[in-house]
Parts: sequence; structure tokens; C-alpha cells
Amino acid sequence: VSIEKYSIIVVGAGAAGVGLGVVLEKCGIKDYVILERDTIGASFAKWPSYTRFISPSFTGNFFNAIDLNAISPDTSPAFNLKTEHPSGKEYATYLELVAKHFGLNIKEHTTVIDIKKDDNDFIIATENKKYQSQFVIWAGGDFSNPILNSFPGAEQCVHSSQAEEFPKDEYTIIGGYESGMELSAHLLSIGKTVTVIDAEEPWEIQGSDSSISIAPATFDRLKPFIGTRKLRFFGNTKVTGVTKIADNYEIMTNTGENLLSPTIPILATGFYALPTIVKNLFEQNENSVVLGENDESTITPGLFLAGPRVKHGGVIFCFIYKFRQRLPIIVDTIAERLNLSTDGLEEYKKANFYLKDLSCCTDECTC
Ligand SMILES: Cc1cc2nc3c(=O)[nH]c(=O)nc-3n(C[C@H](O)[C@H](O)[C@H](O)COP(=O)(O)OP(=O)(O)OC[C@H]3O[C@@H](n4cnc5c(N)ncnc54)[C@H](O)[C@@H]3O)c2cc1C
Repeated sequence: VSIEKYSIIVVGAGAAGVGLGVVLEKCGIKDYVILERDTIGASFAKWPSYTRFISPSFTGNFFNAIDLNAISPDTSPAFNLKTEHPSGKEYATYLELVAKHFGLNIKEHTTVIDIKKDDNDFIIATENKKYQSQFVIWAGGDFSNPILNSFPGAEQCVHSSQAEEFPKDEYTIIGGYESGMELSAHLLSIGKTVTVIDAEEPWEIQGSDSSISIAPATFDRLKPFIGTRKLRFFGNTKVTGVTKIADNYEIMTNTGENLLSPTIPILATGFYALPTIVKNLFEQNENSVVLGENDESTITPGLFLAGPRVKHGGVIFCFIYKFRQRLPIIVDTIAERLNLSTDGLEEYKKANFYLKDLSCCTDECTC
């Protein structure tokens, strides 16, 4: 059986995978391939149609205030999409454009089904071919791994990433972080009544970290409804189960108060960090991936994680403007081991796209 060999294999051509491809090209590293199950930017293309970026795009690039949603210092979704809050489909178009412009080596419609490491190399199995490489960068994202089992009866609910049609008047959302609040804003904007339940009170969190507090763009949309009957919050309320009773859903909670929803409850309970095929190759602490300082697996040397699930202590890289700053660090680490030049990284360093010292990241704004 023939086997295709590369120094580096990237799995996934989303924001992280395409961003990595650009870093590799800028460093003159050609011995790589990006394997993509679907097409470039597929997760973005699958976002519910009403979902838009909460992080704004704006072309500040050449004043060194780079578009927050750009994956390379010299590109800007605001510039080529002409919008401040792109839809998922629009952003997939931006990624396609970037991939084409930089001539990235991407194989679409190629699903990785297994990754194994022998003494030195990785063997990556796809549905019809095997690949071998010294390094693997997992950039598979988390959109394909929705959490659908957080309590008994969760399987009777629908996940927010898959909720598209809202024909009735009233909806209940379980989970009050960004995706729950963003969906609430959408439902309210089309005249629905919304109940949000959360084990804590995420909507009350005040902080400078966009990974923890609700985005200003979402608050702007919610403000007209706060304090009205259209929007009810049940904070500090953990859902313990959901049961379907005739046409309604009974939502049991730990406070003893049970709620009745006339429509299928919507789970805004997030995503698992890793799918089964790579789960055992990374150390995990609950749903967090434990990484070495250069985002390498602590148990599988040569395997790196790129994307929104990168986390170091309290520093969470779940936004593009955050995780893009770790992509050159992975390439730097690999290039050093392969004795390759990293001159191409200078542009990233100058543009604040190379974040190694994380001591600054937990500061709060002064006002
Ligand atoms: C609804 C939603 C809204 C968001 N809004 C924002 C926002 O406003 N701003 C922001 O900065 N971030 C936002 N994020 C977070 C983050 O930017 C996205 O999750 C982004 O898609 C992460 O990029 P990625 O490349 O890591 O993953 P993805 O874009 O999911 O890319 C992973 C790719 O890997 C492929 N893949 C997966 N498994 C395999 C396999 N086994 N074999 C081959 N290919 C595989 C997938 O098909 C996919 O194309 C949002 C996320 C969601 C879900």
C-alpha cells in the first residue's frame, strides 16, 4: 500500500489550519499537507444562518491594529467581505480566498480516521490512503463535537449549533454563555419569548476577557429586552433532566423548580474539546486539553494542538484574535527541530501575532 510522506501534516482547514498553512508558506516550508474532511472553512459554512461573528472586523492592519478576525497579518475579512460581523458562510469565503492566494497545499474531502505514532513517525489513516509525517498539528476544531449528554434526557433536546427553524413563540435555552445569549438575541429579534437557564449567572460576569464575559455586540442586541417579559433568566439553576410530556418538555432543576417548555429545549452547552480519534493522544483535565508550553501534547511528542481549545492556566485562546498568535509558535518549534529557517516569522512578531509571554493576558482594563 503506497503511503504519502510529509514532514508536517495539519488536520483541518478551518481558521487554525489555514492560518498555519500561511505561516508555513511564509517560512518557505513546503513539505506539508492540510487534510480537510469537507471543504475549506466547512465548520463556518455550517453555522446556523442567523449566526454572525461577535468579534468585529475592521481594517486597522497597517496601523498594527490587525482585523480581529484575520488569520494572517496582511489579510482582513473586513476588507474583502465588506462587513463588520461576517456570517459563517462569508468567513468560509475569506478562508478560501486566503488559501488560494497563498497557494496552500490542502486536500479537501479527505477525512482522517486514525492517527498512530510509531517510534518516530505518525501514521495517519484516511478513508482511502495512508500518510506518514514527523509532526502532526490537530486543527480539527470543536464544532463537530457538540455536548449532547450533560443530563438525562439531553438527547431529546436540540444543540444550538444545529437549531435553525423557530416556528413557535416560546423557547427555552439551557446554557447562558455566549452561544446561549447570542441565540436569545436572535430569537428576541424575531419576536419570540425566551427563557435562559444556567448553573451560574454568566450574563452577570464583568471582565476584560472576551472568553468569559458576554460580548458587547450581544449585549447591544439584548439590552432592549432585559427586564421585559420577553426574556427570563434562571441563574444558579442546574438542569438535572428533561422529559417529554405530550407536546411539552418538563425541565427538572436542582432548585426544585421544574419548568415547562412548549418547544424543544435548546442546548447551548458547548462542545467537547477533542473527538475520539485524538482524545487519547492528548492529556485532558475534564474538558480541557493539557499542553506543553509550545502547544505540544504532553504525552505524544510531535503532536500539537491549534485553535480555540488551546488553553494555558487561566489564559483561554478561544477567539481567532487569540489563537492566531499561537500558530507561529507551533511552526517555530517544529522548524527548529527540522533545522529550517524561521525568517518568515519576523512579520508575525512585528504584527503582534506571536504571543509567548502569557503574563499579560489576565490583566483587567483600568476602566
Ligand atoms: C457559532 C460560533 C460562533 C463563533 N464566533 C466567533 C467569533 O465571533 N469570533 C471568534 O474569534 N471566534 C468565534 N468562534 C470560535 C472559533 O473561532 C471557531 O470555533 C473556529 O471555527 C475555530 O477554528 P478552527 O480552525 O480551530 O476549527 P474549525 O473552523 O471547526 O475547522 C476545523 C476543520 O477541521 C475539519 N476536520 C475535523 N475533523 C477532521 C478529520 N477527522 N479529518 C479531516 N478534517 C477534519 C473540519 O471539517 C473543519 O473544516 C465561534 C464558534 C462558534 C461555534
